[in-house]
This record gives sequence, C-alpha cells and structure tokens, in this order.
Amino acid sequence: MQFAELVGYYDKLESTSSRLGMIDILKEAFKAASHEEIGEIIYMTQGVLAPPFEGIEFGVADKLVEEAIAIATGYSKDDVERNYKKSGDLGNTALQLTKASKLRRMSSRKYSVHELYESMYKISQASGEGSKNIKIKTLADVIASSSPTEAKYVARYPVGQLRLGVGDATILEALSVAYTGERKEKDALEHAYNICSDLGLIGTTLVEKGMEGIKEFHVSIFKPIRPALAERMPTAEEIIEKMHGRAAVEQKYDGFRVQVHKRGKDIRLYSRRLENITDMFPDIVHAVQTEIHAQDAILEGEALGFNESTGEFMPFQETMQRKRKHSIEEKIGEIPLHLFAFDLMYLDGKDYLRVPYSKRREALESAIKGAKTIKPSARIVTSSPKELEKFFEDSIENGLEGIVAKDLDSPYIAGARKFSWIKMKRSYMGKLSDTVDLVIVGYYLGRGMRSEFKFGGLLCTVYNEKKDIFETVSRIGTGFTEKQMSEFRSALNRIKVEKRPARVEAIIEPDFWVEPRYVITVKADEITKSPTHTCGRERQPDGTEVGYALRFPRIVGEEAIRSDKSVEDATTTKEIIEMYQNQKRVRVEEK
Ligand code: ATP
Repeated sequence: MQFAELVGYYDKLESTSSRLGMIDILKEAFKAASHEEIGEIIYMTQGVLAPPFEGIEFGVADKLVEEAIAIATGYSKDDVERNYKKSGDLGNTALQLTKASKLRRMSSRKYSVHELYESMYKISQASGEGSKNIKIKTLADVIASSSPTEAKYVARYPVGQLRLGVGDATILEALSVAYTGERKEKDALEHAYNICSDLGLIGTTLVEKGMEGIKEFHVSIFKPIRPALAERMPTAEEIIEKMHGRAAVEQKYDGFRVQVHKRGKDIRLYSRRLENITDMFPDIVHAVQTEIHAQDAILEGEALGFNESTGEFMPFQETMQRKRKHSIEEKIGEIPLHLFAFDLMYLDGKDYLRVPYSKRREALESAIKGAKTIKPSARIVTSSPKELEKFFEDSIENGLEGIVAKDLDSPYIAGARKFSWIKMKRSYMGKLSDTVDLVIVGYYLGRGMRSEFKFGGLLCTVYNEKKDIFETVSRIGTGFTEKQMSEFRSALNRIKVEKRPARVEAIIEPDFWVEPRYVITVKADEITKSPTHTCGRERQPDGTEVGYALRFPRIVGEEAIRSDKSVEDATTTKEIIEMYQNQKRVRVEEK
C-alpha cells in the first residue's frame, strides 16, 4: 500500500464524528493491507513503531521536527516556529508550509507504507553523536517527498501526536469485521491480545493464520500479559457471598505493580501499563535471579518500600520515588524495595493462566526461595466475614490500602475487571470510598485571577468499556495548585483538537476539546444523578434522560497526570454505577 493511500484513511478518520464511522474506515484500510504490511499499519495507527513493551521510542522533540520542516520547505526555523505557535499542531504547520513550499519539489519519490515505516524506524534507532542530524535529515527527506496531507501525518507521528483517537478495542473490532466479516470474533481477538499485548502480532496472525491461529495463542516469555483487575465491594459479607462462601484474602499493598518475566538469566520487568522498566530496578532483577527457583517464569507482584527493622510499609508517594531513570543506585539504599508476589502465570514450560488460583498460589509459593526481597503476599483463606473484616482492619492498621479477595477456583483473567478479584478499601463514612481515575477530554479557560494561566478547569470522562467510548462524569474547576495548572496548560495545549473526538460522548462543551490521552485521579464526596453528564445516561420513566456525576470532585496528588495508566485503564462507567449502588447501600446500613 502506498503511504498516500493510508493517509487518505487517516484523513477520513480525523473527520468522522462517530465510533462506528471509525470502524468502517479502519476496516477498509485493513482490508487493503497485505499480510506483510498489516502489523506496521496497526502500529502506525496506534502512533508507535512496536508494542509499547519493546520500548522503541522515536527520540524526537518538537524542535527537531521544526528543523526538518524548515529544510524540506525552504522556510527559516523562525518561520516554522512562528507558524507552529499559531497552529498549535506540527502537522498543520507541515501541511501549510509544504503547500506553500519555497523549494521546487526535489524528489518525486513516493513512499510505500513499508518504506515510510522503515524511515521512521531508522529515526528511532539513531543514537549517540551525530544522531540528531541523521534524524533531521531522514525526516526532512520524507517531508520533501510528501504531499501536504502526507506531510501532516509525517510530522505528527514521531512526536506522538497523530490525533486519530483510535483505541485498542477499536482496532480489534475493525480487524474482526475486516477479516471475518462479523463483529463477534472481537472477543476471541481480545482474548489473544490480552495474553500478548501486541496488536500488530494479532493483525499479522489473523491475516496469515485466520481465527484458528488466534485461538491457539498462549503466553510467551517477554510478551507481557495484560493485568487482571479487581472489582469493588463495600462489605465482607457481600464478598464472601459473591465468592461462593469461601475466599483467599490478601493484603492490598500500595506500591506499583510489576510483572516479572524470567528466561534463565534473562530477566525483564514490566509496569502495569506494560512498559519495560527493567533498568529502573536492578535490585528486583537481582532478587529474581537469586530468589526465584525456576528456569522460566512469569509472575506478578506489588513492589513497595518496606522498612525491615520497623516492619513498616512506606507510603505510596515515597515508593514512587524509585520509579526513575537517573540516580537509581543512590535511591536503592534509601528506599529498598520488596516485591510482594501475588500471582503466577507461567512456570517451567507450563502455562498457568487457566489453572485455578489455589493451584497457582501453591506453585508460586514453591518457586520463591529465600524470601528476602520477594515474598508471597500475606493472606488468609476464610469462610467467615468476621475474619475477613479483622484481616482488613489489621491491614489498614499496618498502613496498607485494604484487601483483595480472590476466588479460589478462578483462572487468571487477563486484561479484565472481574469478580474473581474483589478489592475493599477503607470506607469513608458514607462518602465515596475510593478514588476514581478519569480521562481528560477538554478544558476551560480561566476567568479573573486564573486567566493569566489560561486554565480554568477540566472536563473529565470515564471509559465505557462496552461501547469503547468516553462518557463525561465531571467538570473539575477548583482545587488545582499553580504547578498543576501550568502542567495541564502545556500538556493539554499539545493535544487540542478542533472538534469533539469521535469516541467522546458529551452534552456539555468545554472551551477546548483534547484527544483522550491523560488520566487523573480524583476524589469526590459522592456520586449523584445528573442530567448534564453522559456517564451511564439512561431514559427515566418520566421521559427525561439522566446520567451520573461526581459531587465536589478534586484532584489527588501533586503529580496531576497519572503516567502509569492509559485511558482504557481509567474507571469505567460500569464501576461508577456499581459505586453509586454501593454508596446507597452503605448509607442505608449506617442509618
Ligand atoms: P487501585 O488504584 O485500587 O490500585 P487499579 O485500577 O490499579 O486500582 P485494581 O485491579 O482495581 O487496580 O486493584 C488491584 C491493584 O492492587 C493491582 O493493580 C495491584 O497493583 C494492587 N495490589 C496490591 N496488592 C495486591 C494483591 N495482593 N493482589 C492483587 N493486586 C494487588
């Protein structure tokens, strides 16, 4: 496929205003791709070069793209910068200046999708001395042979600004329709995706081997598994009942989730978002080498600072200081990490995903030897709500977040929030008992004092998993620090879009729409019904339509944007409705 053809599809994607429209356009694009191209087309559409866990980054800043545009069009760097300041989008700048290029078209070369991908890959691989020039020259060459519309996407791609608004589920559904003619195979595709986390590989397998190939997928080392997630419940009784009378109850540690992959001496660590974080934690890598007695393994746990002499867990904020790229050794001494292992997915040739929790746990415990840095999570197995309650209180007393109850018979359910894991955190006397993670889709301009920051608040959404769209649940207008306001202003300004993104459903309009990209954690007093928000919106018996909203929302934590969560990891519509019902129940019990 020619890159020009792909760009035609991208332009259509940008102008569609519905998710179904997106599926149709993507379906056509996928159908037109050969089996060699499909993987690359999928990565390009995601705005990456490879699945995120491979950590292949462009290493390209805005300035570098500006220079490439200048070289390719004959304008000065200042001209390009001025235009970019006005347009706010490197893509539009590239489009306008290519259209009005001062240079005669030097090259009549037309890039195929594969050639374009290769040029971009070359840019990502350039490192060390002289790499900046290689990057600029390669990019300038591509822009010089591009039409204005092609140049728009070439300039956006390496800075992560494609702005197509396509999510994982959108791609999976489009693949299903393109290659099986129906939507219903989406679930099987999603299942395969959940255990390899590589959409390009899913596309290639589907095209080459059909659904047979997809159904044969199993776990493999160094392909991280999308994490199992927990539902919420407010009382011990309900948890025991939901778990058929008996459950394992584990402490819920408040650190960061680590998925460990071990093949012999080769060890890699992945974050909750499945980024490769191996280099940040040499102490955990060493512990896996010495304390995990298995040739090959995939296991999961929560890493957090722990003071052995006092037996105290460090607070989340302190633990998070270990997530850094520099001065790693220095911090190891200050904040020694422990890994509380809570699940096992693979051990010496055996795939454990379908094995019941109780057996996985046995195998996990037998693989941990030494237990200096890596320990199995503390737990009890009980049929008694009273005992569960006591274990919960003890956990809180020890400075932990609460508990996670686990269904003894359940397999490991990758990439989904199911009742096989149920979390319970401290309830705040009728107030909303948990924070929620929201996706920013727009922002407001400030009035009065704050207008000098040009920032007046956020329009936030939750993720509706079923429909693969974002529904508004809150407008947050107060409680920001100045640092947060300026952080938001610069981050959001870069992802402004001209109209409501196709996967966002809203009744109210912010001053500016942004591509759904950033997640923030928010605390609220309660969840109320609301006519102005689209979260869980339903027609009432009296004919009106009502959704859900947060009351008195405020942002949690100094670091406003959650870099550890992707937009599809945000709180879902279904969770908000469940939290609303739990909140009503707790209130009734308190009366
Ligand atoms: P939260 O913000 O409450 O941690 P989350 O969306 O990150 O929520 P959930 O699946 O809702 O994730 O809650 C489980 C999380 O709790 C896991 O992602 C993991 O990081 C952490 N955790 C801590 N201890 C345990 C444990 N013993 N078993 C499972 N998860 C645990």
